Amino acid sequence: MNWTKDMQALDRAHHLHPFTDFKALGEEGSRIVTHADGIYIFDSEGHRILDGMAGLWCVNLGYGRQALVDAATRQLQQLPYYNNFFKTTHVPAVTLADTLCRLAPASVNHVFFTGSGSEANDTVLRMVRRYWALEGQPDKQWIIARENAYHGSTVAGMSLGGMAPMHAQGGPLVPGITHIAQPYWFGEGRDQSPEDFGRACAAALEERILELGEENVAAFIAEPVQGAGGAIIPPDSYWPAVKEILARYDILLVVDEVICGFGRLGEWFGSQHYGLEPDLMPIAKGMSSGYLPIGGVMVGDRVADTLIDTGGEFFHGFTYSGHPACAAVALKNLEIMQAAGVVQRVRDDVGPYLAQRWSALADHPLVGEARSLGLIGALELVADKATGARFDKSLGVGNLCRDISFANGLVMRSVGDSMIISPPLTMTRDQIDELVSLARQALDETARHLN
Ligand code: PLP
Repeated sequence: MNWTKDMQALDRAHHLHPFTDFKALGEEGSRIVTHADGIYIFDSEGHRILDGMAGLWCVNLGYGRQALVDAATRQLQQLPYYNNFFKTTHVPAVTLADTLCRLAPASVNHVFFTGSGSEANDTVLRMVRRYWALEGQPDKQWIIARENAYHGSTVAGMSLGGMAPMHAQGGPLVPGITHIAQPYWFGEGRDQSPEDFGRACAAALEERILELGEENVAAFIAEPVQGAGGAIIPPDSYWPAVKEILARYDILLVVDEVICGFGRLGEWFGSQHYGLEPDLMPIAKGMSSGYLPIGGVMVGDRVADTLIDTGGEFFHGFTYSGHPACAAVALKNLEIMQAAGVVQRVRDDVGPYLAQRWSALADHPLVGEARSLGLIGALELVADKATGARFDKSLGVGNLCRDISFANGLVMRSVGDSMIISPPLTMTRDQIDELVSLARQALDETARHLN
């Protein structure tokens, strides 16, 4: 009997995996991850693999944190569940809300808890439209989002997102959402300078506002740096121009911090890196380092004041909004991050160090661009380094490189032919060296396969 094979057979028989070709997985069998420690995961065949994606962009403090386990245990013993509906609350939710608001931009002083980032974006959609209705402008309904954005997998989340393959499955999208170009210079803007391209993408926002009529536009939603779309770092000209346009037409800014929040870009929130003052900020993932599921929407004063002063009951909430054990773990996670100066370390030490080491991969024959900010990065794989021409999609070069990398001991994610990393924020310089050297090895082996 082979334990791994038996487990894979059970998996094949009963388990439908997220974002997976069910049939193809059935034929290949899944890798069974059994345990993890620090920045490494281990599989059932004894392989140790550096988790260059921190799970799904979430295990910011790395694995094996006993203090988080203890926080969950204590809370489960004392009060495993109670809700925050109908005028009740509990200490973990109150304390977490207070802590989050101290870390957020100054104008953000409330939080509505959810169980995930997708639920947070469902909440955003309802809150934004509710806000404008309360302000006596019920026609302000349209939400402008971006192509290739990811905002979750619920119906509202995927409608706000701009992933064409998701839109093509599962029926009508939520009405009143429209998508504009993304500031993806390497993929879509190389006929211009990055700065001109950034301004052109911002101008697309203004054009769409004018097409729809500013009196009909409620909000613009965007990730500070697009994560699932391919670790897309906008040109420096982009956010200042967007900010200015939104202010001119009085349109709310929703900054999706599900990936960029909690230190990824070297500030507590991506908004702080780009000097944004969001009206709403969906959060999740790194809030608890992924140890237990929790999300939320942080709400700026402008929206919160209206909802509180004139809104009456907001008919919205989830059984697990602010779940006590999840909130206790999130709180401990933030406490550890603060005590260890994790965010400052990303900004001043390991972020710049990664930038230096990662950008050196640009000398590889397969790499057209190597970019990073804080602890998120991407490599653009190209068929022709001189022109930046892409490989034929049918070759699946990104997936090939991802599989080789995994087999060699490094989790990188492929988005088309972009290779993505978003490792734990606790990475040391030595571990960054190890990551970069494993990435180079994966590139070399991919190049050999292609020749
Ligand atoms: N928003 C962004 C920017 C994300 O990257 C994700 C998940 O990757 C979500 C929202 C959805 O979060 P969840 O998977 O917790 O529902």
